[in-house]
Amino acid sequence: MKRSHLIKPILDQVYPVIDYGKGVYLFDKEGKKYLDGASGAVTANIGHGVPEIIEAMNEQAKKISFVYRSQFTSEAAEQLAKKIAALLPGQLNWCFFVNSGSEATETAMKMAIQYWQEKGIHTKTKVLSRWVSYHGITMGALSMSGHTSRRARFVPLLEDFPVIHPPYCYRCPYNLEAPSCSFLCAKELETVIQRIGPEHIAAFIAEPIIGAAGGAISPPEGYFQIIRQICDKYEILFIADEVMTGSGRTGRMLACEHWGVLPDIVTLGKGLGAGYAPIAVAVASDKVMEPILNGSKSIMSGHTLSANPQSCAISLAVLEYLEKHKIMRQVEEKGNYLKQQLEEMKDSYSFIGDVRGKGLLLGIEFVEDQHTKKPFPRKAFVTQRMVELAKEIGLIVYPSGSGIDGVNGDSIIISPPLTINEQELMELIQLIRDTFSAFS
Ligand code: PLP
Repeated sequence: MKRSHLIKPILDQVYPVIDYGKGVYLFDKEGKKYLDGASGAVTANIGHGVPEIIEAMNEQAKKISFVYRSQFTSEAAEQLAKKIAALLPGQLNWCFFVNSGSEATETAMKMAIQYWQEKGIHTKTKVLSRWVSYHGITMGALSMSGHTSRRARFVPLLEDFPVIHPPYCYRCPYNLEAPSCSFLCAKELETVIQRIGPEHIAAFIAEPIIGAAGGAISPPEGYFQIIRQICDKYEILFIADEVMTGSGRTGRMLACEHWGVLPDIVTLGKGLGAGYAPIAVAVASDKVMEPILNGSKSIMSGHTLSANPQSCAISLAVLEYLEKHKIMRQVEEKGNYLKQQLEEMKDSYSFIGDVRGKGLLLGIEFVEDQHTKKPFPRKAFVTQRMVELAKEIGLIVYPSGSGIDGVNGDSIIISPPLTINEQELMELIQLIRDTFSAFS
């Protein structure tokens, strides 16, 4: 094998070289075609090779590709911030641009701590989070992440931020069902706040639908309303990590909108640049910004490439594309259809335990026994096998984990570009069936 100088996720594995992409398809150098059933990593929300985005890219490159944010701003960054503020609900009006979801959640955490400092409260420095969650790979973001395998090597360096169970109804830790469970998993937050003391807690962070760590675990109706009430009662900011769920993935700009719940700070990434540029954002509400505007007037975060004009112009073009083609409106219908088809596959494939998610962010959990929900014995083995089989067949799915209290389950995420058309959706469903048949 020819030696590669590129560090890949698994060093001795051979990765196909992708040559180009068009719409929902990717083509490798060997001419093999893949249907991108995962939008890469829930990122390529409008598909590949969209001419409008390439044009916006070129136009911006002709003007300016880089200015340093501590001394200049750019039209692209200003316009993108204005567009995001207009698209987001409530008072989420203040955009801090970064280059990845991890940086966005780090920034959100810092904004929250700074908010309290600027109000003269210096003890509120902890950020609470949930087990079975993922907020990013950098140390602060990993501290907030309840993702055991990604934390494992670095535990001594991490803060113990994850403290409560997720709303994982398929494997409810209380063996109850929503709504008669009274949302005990949400109420755990109150117990923990009382134990630690609200005077030490700056914020609570959660993914509206748990992605990488859980395989599109969507909470029951009522869950986030209770979380919001608890945060308000104890004066704790609520950060919604919408890096995966935002930017239209579930049919709304924010998944939180489905439950009528507004965060104080929200993070967007992945679909914000739709894979055309590395860009993410932490958006603060007027409430969060007020003491900062009246105080130090500066958020202590930032990167050399923050608010990069090239990335901002591309993201603006992506958001305009979503609006112009009314893409978000079609997501719910496509998602419901796909979910129903996946549900129906349970009859043919006994290893499908749970089908879940919202819009075009759907998850499938695999089990050894559909009735007892017994997980497969080897951790992540089935997930990897499914991903490999799908790839052989010409389908891309996203591997995710699922686990609670030592139950290491297997799951994948199905999240095609939001632009997928009816015929492509049918093809996607057939390819999923083919993958499952190959596994059987
Ligand atoms: N937050 C969520 C919810 C994510 O799903 C991810 C990535 O999967 C991140 C944060 C981290 O984003 P990035 O990989 O761009 O750093």
